Amino acid sequence: MTTYQSPISPGVSWYEASCGPRPGYAPLEGDRSCDVAIIGGGYTGLSAAYHLAKAGAEVVLLEAHGLGDGASGRNGGQLSSGQRQSVLWLEERFGYTRAKALWNLAEEAKAHAVGLIEEHSIDCDLTLGHLTALHKARYYAAEAAIVDALWTRYNYDKIIMLVRPAMAAALGSDFYYGGSRDSGAGHLHPMKFLIGMANAATAAGAQIFEDTAAITIEAGRRPKVRTFSGTLHAGRVLIACNAHIGALEPETARHVMPIRSYIAATEPLADDSGVLPGDECACDSRFVIRYFRKSADNRLLFGGREVYTGGPAKNIAPHQRQQIGEVYPQLKDVAISHAWGGSVAVTLPRLPFVREVMPKVLSVAGFSGQGVALAPFAGKLVAEAFNGNRERLKLFEDLAIPAFPGGALLRQPLLTLAMAFYALRDRI
Ligand SMILES: Cc1cc2nc3c(=O)[nH]c(=O)nc-3n(C[C@H](O)[C@H](O)[C@H](O)COP(=O)(O)OP(=O)(O)OC[C@H]3O[C@@H](n4cnc5c(N)ncnc54)[C@H](O)[C@@H]3O)c2cc1C
Repeated sequence: MTTYQSPISPGVSWYEASCGPRPGYAPLEGDRSCDVAIIGGGYTGLSAAYHLAKAGAEVVLLEAHGLGDGASGRNGGQLSSGQRQSVLWLEERFGYTRAKALWNLAEEAKAHAVGLIEEHSIDCDLTLGHLTALHKARYYAAEAAIVDALWTRYNYDKIIMLVRPAMAAALGSDFYYGGSRDSGAGHLHPMKFLIGMANAATAAGAQIFEDTAAITIEAGRRPKVRTFSGTLHAGRVLIACNAHIGALEPETARHVMPIRSYIAATEPLADDSGVLPGDECACDSRFVIRYFRKSADNRLLFGGREVYTGGPAKNIAPHQRQQIGEVYPQLKDVAISHAWGGSVAVTLPRLPFVREVMPKVLSVAGFSGQGVALAPFAGKLVAEAFNGNRERLKLFEDLAIPAFPGGALLRQPLLTLAMAFYALRDRI
């Protein structure tokens, strides 16, 4: 069993343990030149590398650690519909036309992920079925209004409301007060998906280098990306570092906040456990969201407990076991085989950050917990933009995400305060 430990995310994930052999990539040594330099080997960077290389560009992707060490190899695997904010939230802020365009993008994002999986025969346990479970009875009307809008104004009929007993049957737990079932969304094994994407990118001609951190980016006619062992001269640069941007590029860092989220995998459950009998995935209505599903080998993977104060969390397993026990009391003492965490990159409005941060340098980050579908698709849109068609990427750029208030010193304490408020609201 693997004991591989990502240097940037806590715990050994079940995904690492179950993804099978995967290719390794040597570090980049010396100076190089290419059409497009991509910094970051998660879904955003790898998908951009694939689409750009497929269109004939010479692409070099630099990953500071190992592919998937950030969020893409360690997430909840939920391939969700829409943006992180509901269509009604978006309509209220941006009007129907833009809300519809953003919904359509997200629909294309799901289809893009499924298309990649099919085209490249990526064996990543893709399973359809997604439940949104309400943790307060009073949220039912609001969820029903979203479902109604999707049917009547968004031409989406794959979602239905479930009353409390129907949700209890779907979850195998009566902990929640009903909710919705989306048969157009689902779940997958995130690390297998990522490996498939990396293989597709290299087969298309992209060159990938691991253990190669970009340490500075210099603007110019041909921007320069410096690493510890050389300089990469590129026609264009994509920064796809997400929550792990650090000090590499300050504009991105001001707009994206890393939040830790944790997942525990149980030992395989008995076939008659009654947990999620339809093999759907579930997330709940909390601001500090809980999300869970079963793996292909019948483990319960249960995620939640966002932490805003940064730093690695101790004792991930006991906390997650406690949340499991609330939903599934029969599992309150269940054996946990793996427990891990990762950094979710959130923006203030919980919508993606896409910006040209210096000439010929684009930064894409902050999918706010919705990146399994949206991040690979954003990579495709970046490829489109670098090839001369910026129309669809512009829908994200036009969101004009604001920076977090407080500057470098106060950003984190202010966010911690705000999140503590929302966590409290989840409980009342
Ligand atoms: C625990 C958890 C659960 C989640 N669950 C879900 C879910 O169920 N559904 C969903 O849709 N989304 C979920 N997400 C979010 C989703 O995983 C992300 O939105 C998505 O993976 C973002 O992909 P990315 O490529 O933008 O970033 P990442 O996958 O984070 O990749 C960024 C990469 O950049 C590299 N990097 C950073 N700095 C440098 C540098 N200087 N030089 C070179 N490389 C660098 C990092 O090492 C990292 O590999 C979850 C996230 C977490 C952490």
